[in-house]
Amino acid sequence: MHFSTLISFATISSLLYSALACESCSGSAKNLHRREAEGGEGGEPGFTYLGLTGPVDWNQFEGAQSCGDGKSQSPINIESTMKISAYGDVGEYADIGATGFNFTNTGHTVEVFYKGQPAVLGGVEYELQRFHFHTPSEHRLDNEWFPMEVHFVHQGRNDPSKLAVVGLFIDTNEENTSDPMMARLATLLQSIEKPGETVVATHVPLSGVRTGITGAKKFTYPGSLTTPPCTEGVSWYVSNTILDVSISDYKIFKRVLGYNSRNLQSGPGQQNVVDFAAQFLPSVANRVASKKQKRTARRFSA
Ligand SMILES: [Zn+2]
Repeated sequence: MHFSTLISFATISSLLYSALACESCSGSAKNLHRREAEGGEGGEPGFTYLGLTGPVDWNQFEGAQSCGDGKSQSPINIESTMKISAYGDVGEYADIGATGFNFTNTGHTVEVFYKGQPAVLGGVEYELQRFHFHTPSEHRLDNEWFPMEVHFVHQGRNDPSKLAVVGLFIDTNEENTSDPMMARLATLLQSIEKPGETVVATHVPLSGVRTGITGAKKFTYPGSLTTPPCTEGVSWYVSNTILDVSISDYKIFKRVLGYNSRNLQSGPGQQNVVDFAAQFLPSVANRVASKKQKRTARRFSA
């Protein structure tokens, strides 16, 4: 084997391994972008939705191994045959009044830090911590995606380690109208177009959300946070009520959020998609190197 071919093989292999986030790789490539990933569902430094710090590589962040090997990861494709939670689940959040709550562009999402609202989900008492948005939707419903999704993130009132997220899909509509919350937040969004900016969100009506949570079927499954550290043990409740957004309001959200949706995961109990892909990496690396070898051999024999 020619010396340059040896170098090519080593280079290609290391690039493939670092790009595709193999759990077993070691050395400096793995640590290139090892960063602290704290919190969850928005507000964490370092990760992105594309490139080498994108979802396929999130397990490289400190404490975020679950992103690459967890077997109950979110989001998933929701099938209408899935388990539905009791209609009695309660999350009657009051409208946000004149005092307001911080509405922040975290760089990963835009989030309202609306704390303390009670919710009972699956018989467990929770308190709302915050809610934020994704474009496009992270979950799918019978493999249909939606332009947006909102996540209401809750923490257990008696056991703070318990997490529950209520998700609602958001879609454009024939009448081109916006749910009152969406219309108000779209106006406020124009003050926080850059990461790090905050505005106080006042007078935000949540009537559509209340209906979408208390009066709707909610598909439930055990999943995870959809951002690093991808913590598992999260109880998901995805409503079948779809909030309206007008085209002009949607465009404001889309312009500010860009693309912030994690790829679909394999489903509760199934092998993690990154872990699954990683087992084929050695053969992929070999195939790429073999083609390179043939090209090099042809060049030298010509
Ligand atoms: Zn989310």
